[in-house]
Amino acid sequence: SSDVCSSDLHRSGSYLMDLIEDMLDAVRLEAGALKLTPEPVDLEAEIRSVFAALRAEAERKRLVFTSEVAADVPLLELDLRALRRILLNLVGNAVKFTDAGGTIAVRGTLDGPRVVVAVSDTGIGIAPEKIGLLGQPFVQVDDSLARRNAGSGLGLAICKGLAEAMGGSLEIVSRVGQGTTVTVRLPATPAVGAAGRPLVRPAA
Ligand code: ADP
Repeated sequence: SSDVCSSDLHRSGSYLMDLIEDMLDAVRLEAGALKLTPEPVDLEAEIRSVFAALRAEAERKRLVFTSEVAADVPLLELDLRALRRILLNLVGNAVKFTDAGGTIAVRGTLDGPRVVVAVSDTGIGIAPEKIGLLGQPFVQVDDSLARRNAGSGLGLAICKGLAEAMGGSLEIVSRVGQGTTVTVRLPATPAVGAAGRPLVRPAA
């Protein structure tokens, strides 16, 4: 029907937009021309909005999304666009590389001066000898599920580049056949209001 058609068009349109955003980020990072503009960010709300963007794909594969942001995580002073690119790429990968029935969990916690955002899946995992290569652009692990899933091989390199540009880091821990956790650590600078007091996160 024309409905199916327009939703397919919508999907390939946003896929292209994402690819273009990723390529622009890769170029900006390479040129040292990435501009970061910190603003107050509600991590929990951003996780929810990435889940919403990937909901249709997740439902098709019967994947379950869960998220948990610790109560002590404040409103954070972060570049919103960069955080969104990171979350979209990491949760998008988790969706791509997890077979039907799996679970994708995003957790946000404080660890001293850092906020730790961990994206875990129960998917196919990544072989240990491949993990070291994955921070580099265009690397794709050559296995059948990876090949069945169109991708640029830019996502993880960009997430790492963006995290580092924000003063943070990215780490991958994975077990073949069991799943993957990608952990991003970012400076947890609390957003402050005009009165100089930390802004409080709205209740969910
Ligand atoms: P893309 O997803 O566009 O191929 P990425 O840089 O995001 O590029 O990922 C590179 C490769 O790393 C993927 O092709 C895949 O082989 C592997 N990979 C990334 N995330 C996961 C994951 N959550 N589970 C299993 N493999 C993954």
